[in-house]
Amino acid sequence: MSGRAVPYFCPYCGDEDLHPHLPADPGARPSGWECRSCARVFSVTFKGLNFGDDATPQTVPVDNRPETGHDS
Ligand SMILES: [Zn+2]
Repeated sequence: MSGRAVPYFCPYCGDEDLHPHLPADPGARPSGWECRSCARVFSVTFKGLNFGDDATPQTVPVDNRPETGHDS
């Protein structure tokens, strides 16, 4: 496979109504995905490769956790 596959399901609600997220700046490239069922915007991040116990995947801090409180 060349390139990246697209996500098929929202990781938060499981819906399939996903579309590329277009930033407010009209010149900006799409970044991430938006779910039109639960209105969440998320991205899929590559964390590294895991070759077993001797290799430690390179990890990055998770700073894009979904914000809570939308439903209250
Ligand atoms: Zn969703």
